[in-house]
Amino acid sequence: KRLNIALCGLGRYASILADGFQDAEYCKLAGIITGTPSKAEAWKKQYDIPDKNIYNYQNFDNIKNNKDIDLVYIVLPNSMHKEYTIRAAKAGKHIICEKPMALNAADCEEMIEACKNAGVQLAIGYRLHYEPYNLEMKRLGQEKVFGQVRLIEASLGYRTFDPNEWRLKKAMSGGGPLMNVGIYCLQSSRYVSGEEPLSVTAQFGPVTDKQLFAEVEASIMWQLNFPSGLVSNCTSTYNCNVDRFFASADDGQFELSPGISYGPFKGRTSNGELHFPDINQQAAQMDGISKLLLENKPLPSHITGEEGLKDMKVIDAIYKAAATGEKIMIV
Ligand code: NAD
Repeated sequence: KRLNIALCGLGRYASILADGFQDAEYCKLAGIITGTPSKAEAWKKQYDIPDKNIYNYQNFDNIKNNKDIDLVYIVLPNSMHKEYTIRAAKAGKHIICEKPMALNAADCEEMIEACKNAGVQLAIGYRLHYEPYNLEMKRLGQEKVFGQVRLIEASLGYRTFDPNEWRLKKAMSGGGPLMNVGIYCLQSSRYVSGEEPLSVTAQFGPVTDKQLFAEVEASIMWQLNFPSGLVSNCTSTYNCNVDRFFASADDGQFELSPGISYGPFKGRTSNGELHFPDINQQAAQMDGISKLLLENKPLPSHITGEEGLKDMKVIDAIYKAAATGEKIMIV
């Protein structure tokens, strides 16, 4: 049996997920939710989706009565994650919600509560927790293979050009590159160290284009302090292409570059090159979640709403640190 998944929001990442289903064993693309009738028609034909599993944003709540949908995968702009997670939970569906989980920590808490009350499970689209190179970085750090990690450096960014992109509208995105890609630098710092950060300092980069960056930061740098004394120094930017993830420990170093995007990845340690298969990350992620849900098992905490909330608390603190110039304690 396969878990029946409905994709909610048919934009660029939904198309990548749709490809992911081709390689999946434990789930299938069973339904769609879209506000655009022409997309509904095109997806219906391409993926053989029955009319009864096609919804728009107005009639979405009727999905409650549809036994042929088990899970709703929310791939909408960030500002819509909370509303659609809560509506899907009320409809009794499990949920995968894309990163970043919501616009702030308070919204994440509401989403977690709604899922708990409805008795459904909530996962966040943290695909790198299923990706072999990143799993190796996590193992090397957490198992102290090269001793205690002292320094992590993570940078992720790309150049953005379209002033109409929702990612540049604060009300829809919640912020700039930190919300969109910086969250991966934060995630990697947390899963390599296996620790939760205590405090943060942060700095906004200059406004490099007044039209593009009227509402959100063009770039942001931040420094996290962890209980062991480990420091993580991160950058996320919309000004240049960068994808680099480095850790230095007492007896060696390990790094991926690229290592946060969709792959193929390259990695090395003080002992030489890393070699792992380049997998379909979306298939691995959806399968990992679907297999557990089919077995009625709880999802591992590092991919749930609680994990999304932890990240969002740190992101809230990073923005506060950058805005005030103060060192902010993370609670
Ligand atoms: P996108 O702009 O390509 O797609 C967004 C979809 O939402 C579109 O189909 C659009 O029609 C729909 N939509 C509905 N109401 C809208 C509104 N009011 N304004 C704008 N769009 C509206 O964006 P995307 O790149 O697919 O990103 C969607 C989500 O997926 C984001 O939260 C993003 O962070 C996340 N994402 C995750 C990954 C990953 O690797 N995990 C990669 C890309 C995007």
